[in-house]
Amino acid sequence: MSEPASPHCLSGFGTDRPWPAEGCGGFALTVGDRACPGWRAQAELVRFLLDAPGPEHVVHRAVTALGLLPQVAWAELVRDGTTANDPAVRAVSVASRTQAHRRIVVRLAEPCDREDLAFVESLLDLVARIYTTAEHLRRLSDDAHTDPLTGLWNRRAFFALFDKAVARLDRGGDDLALLLCDIDHFKTINDTLGHAAGDRALLAVRDAVARVTRPSDVAARLGGDEICILLSGTDVHGAVKVANRLRDALRDENPLTPTPLTLSIGAADPACVPRGSSARHTRADLLRAADEALYRAKARGRDCVVPAQAPDPLDRCPTTPIDVEPSAA
Ligand code: GH3
Ligand code: MG
Repeated sequence: MSEPASPHCLSGFGTDRPWPAEGCGGFALTVGDRACPGWRAQAELVRFLLDAPGPEHVVHRAVTALGLLPQVAWAELVRDGTTANDPAVRAVSVASRTQAHRRIVVRLAEPCDREDLAFVESLLDLVARIYTTAEHLRRLSDDAHTDPLTGLWNRRAFFALFDKAVARLDRGGDDLALLLCDIDHFKTINDTLGHAAGDRALLAVRDAVARVTRPSDVAARLGGDEICILLSGTDVHGAVKVANRLRDALRDENPLTPTPLTLSIGAADPACVPRGSSARHTRADLLRAADEALYRAKARGRDCVVPAQAPDPLDRCPTTPIDVEPSAA
């Protein structure tokens, strides 16, 4: 094989050398002007190929890097993937998040010899392995950060995003506000209509949240029937408007009709919590303020939004007691 012209190139990888297991030597990869031996080369190669936006691009990038162009006439994704009996065609299935199996089909231009075909075959096998591994890692990461029923962020991921938003706010970034939503009488819904209906109710809340919030907002299922939304670029007044839109959206798309599906919602922003806390405290304080407001919403008869109250100025620094003398009449 001639020396690849690309600044990214592989050497020592060919038809007679199967893709080496992690830790094996005998193979080197050059990315730019850096040469990487062994497992690092494999990691670099994976990263290099994964920079491509899709598997078909991976093939293009790889064949370019390997100096196989112009022998490869095309590479594309097909759904059902019959490649007939064309001797110049090789195909491989790759795992995909949205479609269980996609096939990358590569046709070699004439003239193609047996060696080139075998080379493309090992290349495709490599791409399939990279994609399967990447998909696997993506799933593991999703499982660790999202709620399996709704796909919303879980508590841990949400808190990490929340702390970042608070840190940005402290550096003059966007305002933020919090909505804490709880389904009314959810236990009764489960008890009377069954858990499947309860699950449908949770999905309906998720969909309504998606309809009324911006892509920059962050929604999480904190547990049970409690959904928390971190809104950016707004304060508690804006949050109350979003919350009312959410209630309207849920009323319009209630999958349990004629059984009502309503939310009680508490809203808070940093003006509702004592000043001077660290990011961690601000998160805890904001959640507490929204939770107290939610409690009041339940106490008011449910199906409503209650904003948290701004703190009493004298309570701003609770660790420093202030003696307030009654003013002389
Ligand atoms: P309230 O109006 O005061 O909020 O009353 P409630 O019945 O909604 O009370 P609460 O919020 O405490 O109810 C939580 C219920 O959520 C209890 C449990 O049966 C149900 N639940 C928790 N997780 C799930 C789930 O994943 N699916 C379903 N279907 N139900 C769940
Ligand atoms: Mg509830």
